[in-house]
This record gives sequence, structure tokens and C-alpha cells, in this order.
Amino acid sequence: MFNKATITFLSISQNEAFARNAVASFMLPLNPTLSVLSDVKTAVSEAVTNAIVHGYPDSVGDIELTIILSDGKLHIEIKDYGVGIESVDDALEPFYTTKAENERSGMGFTVMKSFMDEFSVSSRLNEGTTVTLIKYVNENNA
Ligand code: ATP
Ligand code: MG
Repeated sequence: MFNKATITFLSISQNEAFARNAVASFMLPLNPTLSVLSDVKTAVSEAVTNAIVHGYPDSVGDIELTIILSDGKLHIEIKDYGVGIESVDDALEPFYTTKAENERSGMGFTVMKSFMDEFSVSSRLNEGTTVTLIKYVNENNA
């Protein structure tokens, strides 16, 4: 089965739940297991929260969510046009955070990586960040 959806939404906190549930709705025809569904929802939630909190720290901007199902792979992109990441290598380290004062633990990327089958981040300072999340799904019973 091939399917694709793109949604653009504002970087306000209410849209974290919207994005997470949109991905869940997209996945429902695959009849996913609760475990797969919850892994993907958690990873999307972390990526979207990062775009809201870190990508646009002092402003509200667009976040683009793209979901593609192709050949048993669920491919999800979360893209912002915000401040970007100075060092992606540093940001991917467990417990690395630039917002320790806001009680962030620095585990978002580590969670995304462990819950998904493939994971990557690309970012440019002052241009924005794209997170790619891939989960392999059994289309009869994901
Ligand atoms: P937690 O996710 O545990 O609440 P955190 O968000 O700081 O804490 P990560 O999600 O692992 O931890 O992100 C690590 C760091 O990468 C962030 O502190 C931030 O500096 C940077 N970062 C992540 N996503 C973005 C983004 N979309 N735009 C700009 N910087 C980002
Ligand atoms: Mg985070």
C-alpha cells in the first residue's frame, strides 16, 4: 500500500497532541499493535515538542509533518524553519540539553532513536531542522 499526507501547523503547544494523533489516525488502517502505535506516537511527540520549544524559542512558526507509507515502511518527517542546531552530534548525545533550566532532561533524541527503526536529523543554523523517523510495519498487523 502507498499513502501520503502532509500537514502544516503552527508551533504552539496544543499542536503536539494534534500531530501525534494525526499520525495515529494515518496508521489505523494498518491495524498496528499497541506497541508500534505507542512507539511512533512517542517519537513524533518528542520531535514536535522539540520543534515547538527549541526550533521557535521566541516566535511562532510553521512545522511541516509529512507521513508516507510505502513498501512496509512508515516514513515520518518533522520539519521546522527555526533557529537550527549548532552541533547535531552534541545534540544527539543522551542527556545533552540547552534548556536544563526548564527541567528538560536531554533524552528526546535518544527516545526517538530507540523507539524507531531508522532515525536521522539534519539541521542548519537559522534555517531549521528536519527529523526523519522510520518504522517498519507489517501491513496486515503492524
Ligand atoms: P527533553 O527532550 O528530554 O525534554 P531536550 O529537548 O533538551 O530535553 P532532546 O530532545 O534530546 O533534549 O534535544 C537535545 C537538544 O537538541 C535540545 O536541548 C536543543 O538544543 C536541540 N534541538 C532539538 N531539536 C531542535 C530543533 N527542532 N531546533 C533547534 N534545536 C533543537
Ligand atoms: Mg526534546
